[in-house]
Amino acid sequence: MGIESALPEGIITTRLDKVINWGRKWSFFCYPFITACCGMEYMAAAASHYDIARFGAEFPRFSPRQADLMLVVGTISHKVAPVLRLVYEQMCEPKWVMAVGACACSGGFYRNYSVVQGADRIIPIDVYVTGCPPRPEAFLDGIMKMQAKVDTESILSRRN
Ligand code: SF4
Repeated sequence: MGIESALPEGIITTRLDKVINWGRKWSFFCYPFITACCGMEYMAAAASHYDIARFGAEFPRFSPRQADLMLVVGTISHKVAPVLRLVYEQMCEPKWVMAVGACACSGGFYRNYSVVQGADRIIPIDVYVTGCPPRPEAFLDGIMKMQAKVDTESILSRRN
């Protein structure tokens, strides 16, 4: 029943949010902002064994203007923090951010004057992947959580 019953065979209806979010969540263009050892796990997750292509996120972009998912991977020092902010601001909307590893999430065990105690003090974070370092499986789990979050968003929403 519903409007489909009045349409010719082969035509279906959906919400614009639903169909656009479906495209977005299966085609993340990741910008890896890698500063430290967690980067090795990201490389493992991106290699053939873990097959990140299953999630449509296999194509990293090294220009923030071509990326919609920033991966903050590694320790963020106060010296690098303005660079992180600048790179984030160069990304177009819609954009999302995943903090990967204890250092990016909370500063990790570097509780000292030179390390930012979590990337969320510099930019908004959507998904946190903990671990020192997180295993590739945890990273992929973070990608799935990111997909679930994108699925709930309205295409009209803007972060700023
Ligand atoms: S969380 Fe651990 S493995 Fe990752 S960057 Fe920090 S110290 Fe290195």
